[in-house]
Amino acid sequence: MSNDKASTKPTKFVYSSGKKKYCIFCSEKVEYIDYKNVEKLRRFMTEKGKIIPRRISGNCARHQRQLSTAIKRARYMALLPYVVK
Ligand SMILES: [Zn+2]
Repeated sequence: MSNDKASTKPTKFVYSSGKKKYCIFCSEKVEYIDYKNVEKLRRFMTEKGKIIPRRISGNCARHQRQLSTAIKRARYMALLPYVVK
């Protein structure tokens, strides 16, 4: 049949339906997020170099704050780009 209703998805904001939301820094018991740990920081950045908001990343307020500070510091040290072209 051509009338396929399975393709009509509801246009709701469903970000991470199956993913668990928890702060990975808390789970790893990270006390201080090192700005030199670029590999880790990159995971919390979009392709365009923006910091992923807390509600999507699932970080707690404390670590999200540390993360943004670390990313800003890493940008200043030219470890991370400000804007990805
Ligand atoms: Zn945390």
